[in-house]
Amino acid sequence: MRILVTGGAGFLGSHLCDRLLSDGHEVLAVDNLYTGSKSNIAHNLQNPNFEFMRHDVTFPLFVEVDAIYNLACPASPVHYQKFPTQTIKTSVIGAINMLGLAKRLGIPILQASTSEVYGDPNVSPQPESYWGNVNPIGLRSCYDEGKRAAESLFFDYHREYKVAIRVARIFNTYGPRMNLHDGRVVSNFIRQAISGEAITLYGTGEQTRSFCYVDDLIDGLVKLMSTAGDIVGPINLGNPVEFTMKELAAKVIDLTGSKSDLVYEPLPSDDPQQRKPDTTKAAEILGWAAQTDLSSGLLKTIADFKPRVLAL
Ligand code: NAD
Ligand code: UDP
Repeated sequence: MRILVTGGAGFLGSHLCDRLLSDGHEVLAVDNLYTGSKSNIAHNLQNPNFEFMRHDVTFPLFVEVDAIYNLACPASPVHYQKFPTQTIKTSVIGAINMLGLAKRLGIPILQASTSEVYGDPNVSPQPESYWGNVNPIGLRSCYDEGKRAAESLFFDYHREYKVAIRVARIFNTYGPRMNLHDGRVVSNFIRQAISGEAITLYGTGEQTRSFCYVDDLIDGLVKLMSTAGDIVGPINLGNPVEFTMKELAAKVIDLTGSKSDLVYEPLPSDDPQQRKPDTTKAAEILGWAAQTDLSSGLLKTIADFKPRVLAL
């Protein structure tokens, strides 16, 4: 198949391109290079089955493909809050443009949605049936509400136009190739630990997240896309083992052998207190569960970060 990956030069997108190429597909990666980078896809540029197009998904795209993975959208709070209007436009207008393309071509389209649709959840773990607790006007709203509106659009295109949709709700995912200055917690802690800078814990460090290794996540996305047409989701994809940010910092220090100190900084506004996926649906419907424990995944990520951090 010839597959379009929007956000294909980003962290997850570039890993997805690798996986689709190794499965024998042709890949068209579309990206405006806001948080993505050509270095993420440099190893594929000479591959005749790979093509890169610099394009902003808030503008219509006319290409001929057999399936779409819609990943375009900055994912780190630092980056998505820097240009909030562009963030919500990317989610909403990007979804409309890509759904329009899927509708015209009669092809399946997968949306990279997020655990952020649950906001600061009142239930834990979060099942797909939970409607969330989201601030509609806060600093995170451009991302959270953008992704929620994109989910609405996906389901309306499905109901109204019979577009074959798949909606994955992705929980915090990490791994090699994350941008060193991405601003997310795993990349910050590893960069800080390797370079000997202080590790920045926001708030008390007691808030929790559940971290999924990138290869596991990509496998879940591909499995979801490969399901029969009546499986639309939403389906949580994540590793259900929950850690506090203090525990994560201790693990990163231990695995890097770092002498970094911890410093406490203010908690960003609307920062969710807990996040843990209920992955029952993914197990039952896709036969999928995350396989990589945090220490093994962090070791692979540290190995990728080390030369890049030392070269800074
Ligand atoms: P990332 O920032 O590395 O990748 C996003 C990519 O989208 C970048 O390459 C960026 O340049 C591109 N992009 C942004 N706006 C665009 C636009 N208007 N037009 C074209 N390209 C654009 O982040 P990521 O972690 O790889 O996330 C990929 C997707 O997965 C995002 O949609 C994100 O919301 C979703 N997601 C990721 C996580 C995670 O933990 N990594 C969790 C939940 C959801
Ligand atoms: N965080 C932190 N130190 C950092 C970066 C993030 O303590 O240097 C915290 C942040 O406040 C949040 C958690 O780590 O509670 C995860 O943040 P991230 O930006 O990775 O993703 P989020 O899940 O909040 O979108």
